[in-house]
Amino acid sequence: MNSYRYSTWPDINKNVINFAVMRIDILTIFPPMLEGPFSHSIIRRAGEKGLVDIRLHDIRDYTKDKHRRVDDYPFGGGAGMVMMVEPVDRLISSLRKERDYDEVIYMSPDGQLLDQPLANRISAMHNIIILCGHYKGVDERIREHLVTMEVSVGDYVLSGGELPAAILTDAVVRLIPGVLGDETSALSDSFQDRLISPPVYTRPSDYKGWKVPDILLSGHDRKIDEWRHEQALKRTRERRPGLLREQTG
Ligand code: SAH
Repeated sequence: MNSYRYSTWPDINKNVINFAVMRIDILTIFPPMLEGPFSHSIIRRAGEKGLVDIRLHDIRDYTKDKHRRVDDYPFGGGAGMVMMVEPVDRLISSLRKERDYDEVIYMSPDGQLLDQPLANRISAMHNIIILCGHYKGVDERIREHLVTMEVSVGDYVLSGGELPAAILTDAVVRLIPGVLGDETSALSDSFQDRLISPPVYTRPSDYKGWKVPDILLSGHDRKIDEWRHEQALKRTRERRPGLLREQTG
């Protein structure tokens, strides 16, 4: 397995013998762009616990070109470079020899918009490939013949698929059971029950006269739950009314 290794990147797979709940192979021409997001906090710990096995692959390692070129001019002319089919095909083929993949996901501004239900669905998968485009995008034949799912992080254009891949990975990995310390924590996040989260507070209860709502200090569990639910409804009505309409309609 020719996966990218960093001297500085902590070996997040060190406790994994040969099995993790989920394996994510990320294909990129800039692996260092993804080094930071996965080597801290919750995602890093998920790797250390053996719950996820994230591998970064440098597409350049799979070109036969002696200058390691992975992009070329677009047929028909026009601005920007296009990522070539062959290196991506060779990399995906070599991965597929090792295991079956649930999906080969291309991060693309015209893909399906990432939302919580989509993150939930992907988090139940075992092996996925995430392909990051760059420049003008990838040769359309990659999308036709190799990619099985296309995901966008929003209706705006970024320079490459690396940041979107990090967003997708983060949204998915935190949903794997056991990744978040408090099992109920992901369930109480915004969107999970199609409601925005209620406000949260911590000590001190009075900072410069800015006070925490009395109810949260009351110790009255049932009333606190009711208050939180009311606040969640109020926020959803104010900020994302579409979520409530989708729920009832
Ligand atoms: N010319 C393309 C944009 C290319 S941007 C177009 O107009 O659709 C270069 C790469 O960045 C893409 O191949 C894709 O992998 C990634 N990218 C850019 N914006 C994105 C978004 N909103 N969601 C997911 N990936 C995105």
